[in-house]
Amino acid sequence: MKSPRLPSLSVRASLLLAVLAAVLVPALLWLLASALPRSLPAPAAPWRAAVLLLVVVQGVAGALLVLGLLSRRLEEPLARLTEQALGLAGLRPVATLAPAELAPELAPLVQGMDEVRQRVGQLQGELQAGRARLRKAAMYDTLTGLPNRTLLQELFGHEAASARRQGRSLALLRIGLDRLDTVSDTLGHSVGEELLTGMAHRLAATLRDADFLCRGGDDDFLVLLAGPVGWDRVASAAERLLRCVEQPLQLPRSGQLLGASASIGIAMYPSDGADFESLARAASLALQRSRTLGRGLYSFYQPALDQALRERIDAERELALALERDEFTLVYQPMLDARSGRVVGCEALLRWQHPRRGLLAPADFIDTARQCRLMADIDAWVLEAACAELARWLGQGLAPGRLALNLSVQQARNPALSEALRDALERHALVPAMLELELTEDAFLDDPDGVPRALARWRALGLGLTVDDFGVGYSSLSQLKRLRPQRLKIDCSLVRGLPHDAEDRALAQAMFAMAAALGIEVLAEGVETPAQQQWLLAQGCALQQGHLHGTPLPAEAFAAWLASRTRDHVPA
Ligand code: C2E
Ligand code: MG
Ligand code: MG
Repeated sequence: MKSPRLPSLSVRASLLLAVLAAVLVPALLWLLASALPRSLPAPAAPWRAAVLLLVVVQGVAGALLVLGLLSRRLEEPLARLTEQALGLAGLRPVATLAPAELAPELAPLVQGMDEVRQRVGQLQGELQAGRARLRKAAMYDTLTGLPNRTLLQELFGHEAASARRQGRSLALLRIGLDRLDTVSDTLGHSVGEELLTGMAHRLAATLRDADFLCRGGDDDFLVLLAGPVGWDRVASAAERLLRCVEQPLQLPRSGQLLGASASIGIAMYPSDGADFESLARAASLALQRSRTLGRGLYSFYQPALDQALRERIDAERELALALERDEFTLVYQPMLDARSGRVVGCEALLRWQHPRRGLLAPADFIDTARQCRLMADIDAWVLEAACAELARWLGQGLAPGRLALNLSVQQARNPALSEALRDALERHALVPAMLELELTEDAFLDDPDGVPRALARWRALGLGLTVDDFGVGYSSLSQLKRLRPQRLKIDCSLVRGLPHDAEDRALAQAMFAMAAALGIEVLAEGVETPAQQQWLLAQGCALQQGHLHGTPLPAEAFAAWLASRTRDHVPA
């Protein structure tokens, strides 16, 4: 119940009034009573008693009045102020106190409380706005303004639950813009971003309101088709989306008119994935297949077809991890002068100590590494590890000869390689003549201009160059003349037929004659039998490598092998 309004008196004034009422009035009465003549006539005597009673009653009433006033003026407002403070702490709305209801002494406190309340309200508003901004940042892509994957995932949860209840399907489409990275690389990153944003708006305009479009990754979008989706509706939506991307797009900021294309992968819920992650993975696999089939296409996820793709993706991931986890290792195989038995060099050969599959040879992983562009990183690792090993052996007084490294074509073309080579040589205090780089002859064919330019740089550094696996590819003699490598390695497959296969004999002899004419050394790889060794020696091919002379060994075992040979070959 609302308390009656009191005039806005100060507590001091209220107390003064109360004291007046409680003390002065009884005192006056008392004086009045005392002033009455002591010998009052008998009938007046009860009057004295009445006055005394009145004094007592007045005193008690005055005291009660003081207490009441104190309570009204102080206790009640304080209790309400306390209630307000607690309300503020609990961030719940509380009624303000009207100044008229309070003693003036409490007014500054109430005003202060009011300001605190207002500030808290303001901060609360700012906090809510900040929270909304954070949620937007967490749920929306800043570049395109589209919802992001997290928001789609949340929405998918609700859609999937209702689809399950109604026994219907959902379709998740992954739309990848083709060659966006090429646009960014050639025209600049901002043009790439503009293209992506323009396409985001276009896709959003093409879809129905109920469909949900979000940014998936760097160059792709995800679409969840809402409502009942049959295969034909999904296919026609995919077709529409592909066509809309293909219209040339005028970029407002850069002024470029760009043509683009997209590929789409489609996965159906629940058949292709029971949860968002597996459904998104299925859509990604289908997208990759669209891209390998020739871009500008859409594909539905097909478990059997995409299994191989999934394995490749897993292998790529494992390879990238292998570098991080230091799972690669090198084995070394000697190259000999078979006439004297002298070790002229050794070839570093890569192995992968796979956590589940054991020790793997390059044939098991090198193609995958090339496809996922990890080969350059692996080659860089090989360069560092092999140079460090060579420096160690030299420090131990061993004589391993030249160290041969196999290089991938990508790495050969990489202009940074010369720098990396120079750096590795310097760091390990090696001279360039101690290193030899092996390139397969296909490399020269794949890139008739780039590779020779790279070779010229290596030669300028003073490094040796070998054409590996010679005789199995299609390198032309004129190429050999142009490249002038120091050495050719005749491939194992050719050596295998020696000396019994007449054609292999003829081929090998032709190669020896040609190399001799060009002043190029020849080394025979894969020498396994004494008969091969003898025949090759008879043809003047003393440089040999193969299991007959030494199998590839881990660094320590190879060092021990080298040490034992040095002991055995100590000149008398
Ligand atoms: P490659 O450079 O021609 O290496 C010679 C291959 O023949 C090696 O196989 C070696 O183990 C094998 N080999 C040696 N002697 C014999 C023999 O008597 N009989 C038979 N049957 N084989 C013999 P590996 O180590 O499996 O290497 C295969 C290929 O992988 C190499 O051929 C090379 O092209 C590539 N490779 C190896 N290590 C690296 C590397 O570090 N980087 C790059 N980019 N490629 C590498
Ligand atoms: Mg080799
Ligand atoms: Mg070879």
